[in-house]
Amino acid sequence: MVNIVLFGPPGAGKGTQSEKIIAKYGLKHISTGDLFRKHLGEGTDLGKKAQSFMDNGKLVPDEVVIGMVDETINEFKTAPGFIFDGFPRTVAQAEALDALLAKHETSIACMIMLNVPEEELKKRLLERGKTSGRADDQNEEKINVRIQEYLNKTVPVAEFYTHQNKICKVNGVGSIEGIFDQISLAIDGHYA
Ligand code: ADP
Repeated sequence: MVNIVLFGPPGAGKGTQSEKIIAKYGLKHISTGDLFRKHLGEGTDLGKKAQSFMDNGKLVPDEVVIGMVDETINEFKTAPGFIFDGFPRTVAQAEALDALLAKHETSIACMIMLNVPEEELKKRLLERGKTSGRADDQNEEKINVRIQEYLNKTVPVAEFYTHQNKICKVNGVGSIEGIFDQISLAIDGHYA
């Protein structure tokens, strides 16, 4: 199994690049944001637990997220590997992910970090909000809360993977293909 964490702030292009990674490497995509939106749409208990946090741009509590990821990994345990998108977003989630993968005798191969300046992020999110139907993309205040949550709680996750020597930094500004080429180079190193 080759398991990848795709890391970066809201609007960094994780979803776009995930699609390309899935097409090329056949990995199973686990996007916690997508999973929550699905639960919300279906009105499940989990969706109800997540809703107020998501509506305000805050992170959903760790135990709710970790339980959902555990279930998803179990459901797809025969996949050739996973690409985690929007997860882990706190150090507690990163520690839990290591433990979950260890149960399946596997681990994270690398963490790809997409770097994008804050002004560019805000521009992209507001632009996406025009067509995505996502309320959290249409309001500048909510976008600011999400970026603050990222800076306060998620940036330390990069340090966690730096200590494990698993971090690979990619410039997230440029053409979609050019960025994907850099990501591919990083992933290919783990198929040698
Ligand atoms: P983006 O990266 O564009 O902000 P996502 O689709 O990844 O958006 O997430 C949308 C919302 O879902 C987040 O603002 C947060 O409320 C919730 N969420 C998603 N993933 C996590 C996570 N790993 N931990 C906590 N909350 C999460």
